Amino acid sequence: MYNKTMYELGSHRSVIRDLFEFGKKRAAEVGADKVYDFSLGNPNVPAPDGVRAAAEKLLAMPDNTVLHGYTSAQGDAEVRKAVADNINARFGTGISPDLIYMTCGAAASLTITLNALYEDGDEFILLAPFFPEYSVFVKAAGGTPVVVPFDEKTFAPDLSALEKAVTPRTKGVIVNSPNNPSGTVYTRKTLDSIVSLLERKSAEYGRKIVLIADEPYRELVYDDIEVPYLPNLYPDTVVCYSYSKSLSLPGERIGYIAISPRMTEKENVYAAVCGAGRALGYVCAPSMFQRVAAACVNERPDITAYRRNRDLIYSALTKMGYDCVHPDGAFYLFVRSPEPDANAFSERAKTFGLLIVPGDTFGAPGYVRISYCVGRDMIERSLPAFRDLINTYKK
Ligand code: PLP
Repeated sequence: MYNKTMYELGSHRSVIRDLFEFGKKRAAEVGADKVYDFSLGNPNVPAPDGVRAAAEKLLAMPDNTVLHGYTSAQGDAEVRKAVADNINARFGTGISPDLIYMTCGAAASLTITLNALYEDGDEFILLAPFFPEYSVFVKAAGGTPVVVPFDEKTFAPDLSALEKAVTPRTKGVIVNSPNNPSGTVYTRKTLDSIVSLLERKSAEYGRKIVLIADEPYRELVYDDIEVPYLPNLYPDTVVCYSYSKSLSLPGERIGYIAISPRMTEKENVYAAVCGAGRALGYVCAPSMFQRVAAACVNERPDITAYRRNRDLIYSALTKMGYDCVHPDGAFYLFVRSPEPDANAFSERAKTFGLLIVPGDTFGAPGYVRISYCVGRDMIERSLPAFRDLINTYKK
């Protein structure tokens, strides 16, 4: 009657969603001011003014049949040109609009890319800690996810484990930097090491291994941190981008896939992307927001609020005795659980009204994720609860 795998996926919410739902229920019972929900990565910084201006200008057009009509399956030609021009101006990549495919956000960019690349028996490497939906997307495309652990000092991938994980069946490696959930930004040195490992393995196995750069947080970096552009480091790169975080537009579902202009058989890979988009029903990304994104390629939300939140929560929690990874980007704080089982820690945190996500779901048992894209006042109000929580481990 129905597909059991899909039933399982649909009837068991993600751990993050479960916590979020619990928070809503709990707020109704004890009052919203006693629940500190750090579960979701939903931007709390408003979209830049340019987004509203662009949307209003589009809506003021007398004939809206074009605005609300279908675009080409791969996205409007002018929109793809604006995106390509922007990539070229920022990174000097030399990409043509014919290698851009507009999507419904990074989730669609990833599922389309994985389906476009997958051939029988392929494996895709996930570098822990990773966005939990990667496993779902890889399996749904037919592939096998292979998890590579991280170096607990730098939070960069464990390169000797990566060396062992790459086999003749490896089709791709998903790289997400700035990273959800750790907030770390991979250094150029780390990326260079990954690139030379993949070049060596591709030559050894006689087949190209693809880097899939999942980049929704590219623009969310604090201080003067470099985020190298992977297509410039490794020819066989596909960028999966989204405006969800960079323009604070997660509900509008808009992003793109960019195939490196130096990619092997790039035209055929692009045709496979178009085919996967077609097969999955991901044609013609939301027409109005394609055009809003094109008008706003250089707009940024005011990320000073995220930076201030980061500084506040990082310094307060480390002073209390929590062991935290210093986040250079995105809006997550990754904290070592004071007891080995992060699920038990997250459960204990709940009793103090603190909703924090256990790391097992990110391939990082023993850690929890705190999303600090929330109101500053909630962080301030939550600090006594964080203190009471850590004190229970000191007794
Ligand atoms: N990749 C990562 C690392 C994410 O954190 C998210 C969302 O939080 C996504 C992909 C999905 O992004 P989108 O909402 O644009 O589909």
